[in-house]
This record gives sequence, C-alpha cells and structure tokens, in this order.
Amino acid sequence: MRLTREDARELYTTASTATLGRMADGLRRQKHPDPVVTYIIDRNVNYTNVCVAKCRFCAFYRDVGSSEGYALGFDEIYRKIEETIALGGGQLLLQGGHNPDIPIGWYEDLFRGVKQRFPDFRLHALSPPEVIHISRLSRLPVPDVIARLIAAGLDSIPGGGAEILVDRVRKLLNCYGKATADEWLGVMREAHHKGLRTTATMMYGHVETVEERLEHLLRLRELQDETGGFTAFITWSYQPEHTELGGGEATGIEYLRMLALARIVLDNFPSLQASWVTQGGKVGQLSLAFGANDMGSVMIEENVVRAAGAAYCMDEVEIVRNIENAGFAAKRRNMHYDILGDPFFREQAVPRQLELATARAAGDTSRPDELRLYAARSAAEKKLRQPQP
Ligand code: SF4
Repeated sequence: MRLTREDARELYTTASTATLGRMADGLRRQKHPDPVVTYIIDRNVNYTNVCVAKCRFCAFYRDVGSSEGYALGFDEIYRKIEETIALGGGQLLLQGGHNPDIPIGWYEDLFRGVKQRFPDFRLHALSPPEVIHISRLSRLPVPDVIARLIAAGLDSIPGGGAEILVDRVRKLLNCYGKATADEWLGVMREAHHKGLRTTATMMYGHVETVEERLEHLLRLRELQDETGGFTAFITWSYQPEHTELGGGEATGIEYLRMLALARIVLDNFPSLQASWVTQGGKVGQLSLAFGANDMGSVMIEENVVRAAGAAYCMDEVEIVRNIENAGFAAKRRNMHYDILGDPFFREQAVPRQLELATARAAGDTSRPDELRLYAARSAAEKKLRQPQP
C-alpha cells in the first residue's frame, strides 16, 4: 500500500534504522527478485567549472575570469571517451558549470562530434539547471533546447541540480535562480515526453527540514506517476568542505535511513543507486541492504564531490568485490538498466585504478582553440580574446 506523507513522516521519525532497512530491503526484493546488483562503467566528465550560479553548497565552481577556471576542448573529451571505452565503459556523465561563454552550438557540435567518432557511445548529459541555463543563454524555450540536443546526440538527462525540490530551501542555498523546483521538474517532464529516460537525485543534510525531504520525494513520485520516465533515484549527503555554506556532514546512519525511506516512498521508481562516492565503499555495500539495487558508476573521473572533501575511489574490481561480498551477483548495465554482462575485467585485463582521474592535470591552464569559434558573452572572455599588444 502506498505511503501517505503522514505515514512517511511517522515512519522516518519513529522507526528504528533496522526496521527501515528491513522494510526497504523487502520492497527491493519484490522489485528485483534475482540476487543481482548492477553497476555501470562510465566517466564523470565536467566540461567546465566556470559558473555564474554560485550555489552556496558548491566547492567546484570558479567565477567567470578566474585563473582556475577551465573549459575542456573537444579533443580532450574525445580522449577521455577513448580511455573510457578501453575500460569497458559505454557512456559519459557529462555535466558542468553554467558558463556564459559556451552557447548551445558548442554542445551540438560536441555531441555530433562524439556520435560521429563513437556511434554506440551514450551521452547522459546536462542536468535540468544546465538545460535551463542554455535556454536562457540562447533565448530558446526549454522544449526547443531539448529537441536540438537530442537531434545532436543527447541520450539521457542526469538528475543533478535537484538538491531539495522546495523553493524555500533553494533560496537559502542560492540555487533558486538556476532552477526553481517547478522548473527542474518541468525539464524532466519535457525530457520524458520527448522519449528520454532520466534519473532523479536528492542532496540532503544542509538547511532542509524532514518535511522538506518528504516534499522532495513526493514531488518526484508524482511526476513519475505522470510520465514513468525516471529510471533511478540517487541520494547523497551534502559535502561541506570548501563551500560557502560550511557546516557538518550527515552521518552514514542518516544516509542509510534516507535511502531506505526513499525506497519505501518511491514505490514507482525501479532502481535506487548506492552513493559510494560520498559514503565510501562499505556504506555503499550496506546500502544494498537498505533498498539500493545498483552500485552506481565505476566513474573513472570525479571532480565535484572531491572539491568538497570526499575522495573515495572504487574501480570495477573493487565495486564487484563489494557487491559479491554482500551476497549478490555483479552485472554490468547500460543507462536503461539493461544487463550487458559479467564484469568487464574478467573478460579483458584492465589496469587497476587506485585514484579517480581529474578533469585536467593540476596546473594545466590550456584553452581549447575551438572556444574562439563560439560567441563570447562575458566581459572577461571578450577581453581574453582581444589581440595582445
Ligand atoms: S552546483 Fe553546479 S550550478 Fe551550482 S555553483 Fe556548482 S557548478 Fe554551478
């Protein structure tokens, strides 16, 4: 039976962690009766860290004109794809800052370039706030932006930028301007109507109340009832280091309780991922007893969570070890959660990865040549492009 808001509140505030886990695990087993846990081999590529949004919880972004700002070149991104394919990967999770000097044509050219070179490779790219940023920058409605990006090669939209889908919280975090709760949901609704499957996320543990966490889950459940377009839900705790907001980090126990509650409330979401990148491998493994049926991504590269102080790394061998030690068979999947096969490293020797890669090597401040082909909007970028005396 479906949980009401009152039921969910009562459960979350009064049930023991073991009870929540047992309930979530039972529901997970109903949806996924086979003892299988999936994961995907992909790479998190952050194409730029330049961002005008300035979310108070973000340690990743740099201001326009900052000497630490970067935008990756197309060739750098193609190289990252080649490395991903060599490790058995089939998609990029491509997200970045709201860079005023990257117009829609840049994304279209990149996506087309990727599909020309790697026709079977998938692009899980541009969270709803990025889509809204591109729509504002290009003065095009969101449906047109999504249609153009799909025509260029977009396969799926990641659920980033949801944080908590309550505008009071979004105003406090300074992320109301980048997307209100309705705007975030609106992009996902449009993407689903256009046939894309997407994910949904939630970042908790900052300024929100329990009531607002519930509101977030219920709004996602409502949209999923309407469109059925979400494949999975991923939650993680706010990572406070080097952020303007500061504060502390929620505990692993709170993470497991939140994950279990999500499995119980989100009865129409097929998959829940474990967030090992913020919680570490062992809490990631425990997540499999608290409602998660998927270990997320091998990831290969990570820049955003690392900037805020979390530096966990698991390569495919380690992810598979955690899944199998928890008593499940580990299977590789694609973005639609179709099973692709057994672990890649058992089919083909791949080098162990003891550290996640970064967007660029430290100190590399190179500027991609092709940026000059796209109109600059910011004063800082225009100045940089002026011929030097
Ligand atoms: S979270 Fe994203 S949108 Fe917000 S400041 Fe960071 S990079 Fe920009």
